Amino acid sequence: MFSYRHAFHAGSHADILKHLTLVHLVQYLQEKPGALTIVDTHAGAGIYNLEDGFAAVSKEADNGIMRLQRFANECGSEGNKLAQSINDYLACIDAENTTEHTRIYPGSPFILARLLRPQDRLKLFELHPKEIDILRHNIGELKQSKQIDIYAENGFARLKGLMPPPSRRGLVLIDPSYEDKQDYRNLEVMMEEALQRFATGCYAIWYPMLSRREAADLPGRMKKIAAAHNRSWLQAELRVENAPGERRLQASGMFIFNPPWTLEKDLAEALPILTKALAQDTGANFLLKSFEAK
Ligand code: SAM
Repeated sequence: MFSYRHAFHAGSHADILKHLTLVHLVQYLQEKPGALTIVDTHAGAGIYNLEDGFAAVSKEADNGIMRLQRFANECGSEGNKLAQSINDYLACIDAENTTEHTRIYPGSPFILARLLRPQDRLKLFELHPKEIDILRHNIGELKQSKQIDIYAENGFARLKGLMPPPSRRGLVLIDPSYEDKQDYRNLEVMMEEALQRFATGCYAIWYPMLSRREAADLPGRMKKIAAAHNRSWLQAELRVENAPGERRLQASGMFIFNPPWTLEKDLAEALPILTKALAQDTGANFLLKSFEAK
């Protein structure tokens, strides 16, 4: 269960889709002054050095954030504009790096921590015995650390206890590693419970696109849960290659319950650009679908 280390995948195309969406969701929810509770049910180590350890071995960032930044620089020098959400996301990555060269990649806990306003709170769950220590150490360095609670507990099981948040304004990122087949089932149970307790929360789920049956069924299962609770949803997928075999992850998606109305417009602009910037073969493509509950 504990073989997964997110450092291997830091700054990958999957992180880009997930973190870009996350930044948009936080910015939208912060348009109102009321306190926001943000929960990251699967936090990881918080921040990653791309030139050291697992990230330097896998080099997934080379085909992810590094490519996107090169593409953004080229666009800039040709006087072309990128989508706003891509610029906002890239600004979060730049903020962690003191030179133009990207060496540090912030995971969801750091991206979220930096965006907190004084009235907001962040709750992080991480079960891995090594990752939790690294996460605690990393978060301890932040000036925002007093607004952040870290739990060495099962995020799937504990989410319901935090719902609804005191201010009834909440954003939940659900980003399991899906190494264990049981994660797919745990996700469904967790979403059922969370929506029963806090139907109006914004829940953002990252998922891998794999031929494994549980992975292929995941969006359909989430849509059924949304229908049962009469919730709106948005599904965004990004495929960077379509090669035989699944030696490495070629595509991933985000499924959002109760998405803000602005998200679809933003992703409709960003996804074609991301597809072009990150394509590794001609099979690169994207999908954007949504449903509005009445
Ligand atoms: N959200 C992070 C980010 O975007 O930077 C990456 C998280 S990584 C995909 C998933 C993490 O969840 C791993 O660090 C793993 O150890 C942890 N994990 C696995 N099962 C868990 C559980 N039931 N509750 C909390 N954390 C868990």
